[in-house]
Amino acid sequence: MSHSDDDRLILVIFDHPRMKIVTNPEEMRFLSRGERTRRGRLGLVPTMGALHDGHLSLLRAARSRSDVVAASIFVNPTQFGPTEDFAKYPRNLESDCALLEREGVELVFAPSVDEMYPKGAETWVVVEGMSDRLCGRARPGHFRGVTTVVSKLVHVIEPDLAFFGQKDAAQVAIIKRMVRDLNLPVSIEVCPIVREPDGLALSSRNSYLTAEERKSALVLYRSLTRVQQEFANGERDASNLIESGKREFAQQAGARIDYLEIVDPDSLEAETKITKPVLVAVAAFLGKTRLIDNITLLP
Ligand code: AMP
Repeated sequence: MSHSDDDRLILVIFDHPRMKIVTNPEEMRFLSRGERTRRGRLGLVPTMGALHDGHLSLLRAARSRSDVVAASIFVNPTQFGPTEDFAKYPRNLESDCALLEREGVELVFAPSVDEMYPKGAETWVVVEGMSDRLCGRARPGHFRGVTTVVSKLVHVIEPDLAFFGQKDAAQVAIIKRMVRDLNLPVSIEVCPIVREPDGLALSSRNSYLTAEERKSALVLYRSLTRVQQEFANGERDASNLIESGKREFAQQAGARIDYLEIVDPDSLEAETKITKPVLVAVAAFLGKTRLIDNITLLP
């Protein structure tokens, strides 16, 4: 962490007497163990900061289902590819902490990269197969970074519950598989997607969009809605449904589709006929910004 980050952190700590902000993993484990012993069930909301109403919904779910709430703020370098936006990803530790305190969060874990990944760290947690599907195809190594950091957070904070957004549906499926496969003692709680009034799913990356790109970005949800309509009209063939969604992109200037797929929500494997609940997932570029969204179809 740079000197100026340190200064900022000290300021933040003085400003938030009711909430502890910790950067050291050992200190965090000591505090979270203490809170669990004193108060009971600990709910963790892992984030990369730049908090918005989607994160707030997770914090409120955690507040209602746990006795003590911890949030982590860590822009995790290992889940970004070499040409991705790690350096420019929005970072607002001070305003994020003000918001977390308003939500009644007791513990904030905000480690530096060096505290999270000591020099020479070479150990990875990988869910094989699933990690190469959906976003994993276009972003090799992304889910390896996610599963590694989430397993580290679980080991450091030892939460009873961990809250994730359905917005990142593939992430949810892969984390659930990791928790099952490694017998991690944590319950994964999934919260619905929070959207803008016009349908755009909230994302920290929406702040990158120009006014023009913001308008074009509506095509993600519009394509999903189109698939939903065709499904409601009785279409059950996955490739026909995918084609109808892709037609929305063909008519939208300024948006470049990465994928639109219909998959099993647990295995992320492609489905051909819709006979059980499926995930319709889409990713697209608006200029340099890559956004994702999804819906579930329930026969
Ligand atoms: P991030 O800070 O982008 O890593 O997101 C932290 C958590 O917030 C993840 O579990 C996301 O799935 C969740 N999240 C992000 N955006 C939304 C949204 N629009 N609605 C619900 N959850 C969200």
